[in-house]
Amino acid sequence: MPFANLLVRALRTLLAAVLDLLLPLTCAGCRGPSGPLCGDCLARLDRRPVRCRARPGCPPVWTAGPYAGLDRRVLLAFKEHGTDDLAAPLGARVAAAYTAAGWAGPDTLLVPVPGRGPPRGPVARLAHACVAAAGGDSAGRVAELLRYRHRVRRQVGLGRADRRANRHGVLTAAGVPAGQRGSRAVVVDDVLTTGATVAEAARALRAEGIRVVGAVVLAERLPPHLSAQGEERSSRFYEPS
Ligand SMILES: [Zn+2]
Repeated sequence: MPFANLLVRALRTLLAAVLDLLLPLTCAGCRGPSGPLCGDCLARLDRRPVRCRARPGCPPVWTAGPYAGLDRRVLLAFKEHGTDDLAAPLGARVAAAYTAAGWAGPDTLLVPVPGRGPPRGPVARLAHACVAAAGGDSAGRVAELLRYRHRVRRQVGLGRADRRANRHGVLTAAGVPAGQRGSRAVVVDDVLTTGATVAEAARALRAEGIRVVGAVVLAERLPPHLSAQGEERSSRFYEPS
């Protein structure tokens, strides 16, 4: 590579680093100057959790909010841009759903759905932040018991039946310590769509003798025939004034 090109690349990198230092962190919700999440957006996320519509094969699932608008923007910023500062406020939202469901307790295991990347992915970080916000050891503890058996096709673009077929048997909880068999567990995930992933997580845990009582998610994405009825979706959530 010619020297001039190398110089231009080095200068670009330097400029980006300087801009990062000079520009304040923007809010993931409204792109305002008070990042990572401004007070207004934080207040708007503070909804009353609801129980999700039943999905085939799923235990009861509670969600902190809808997969739409502000909730969706902030969740995507956390997952896709690695905005780790958002783990605490979003974990607090999951904690609201977890406590509203009545599952919090010192003997409850929170089992995050594993990611495909390195350990301690976004969902595991949400689970840890959830326990911290719900009261620490007295509210439960995170147990990363699940892992993928093999690579799976991404769920994006698949229909409901295909998603279930694509998911079945992909997770395993093999190797659960004897002391944890019979424990009561709550699955943690970020988004509930068809429920295929949560159903598979519950199946894998139950196969190892874990008692799955339910699941908590940050956001519920309703099937198209329901989400088309925008009013129906938004009216399910309490919006703070
Ligand atoms: Zn904001």
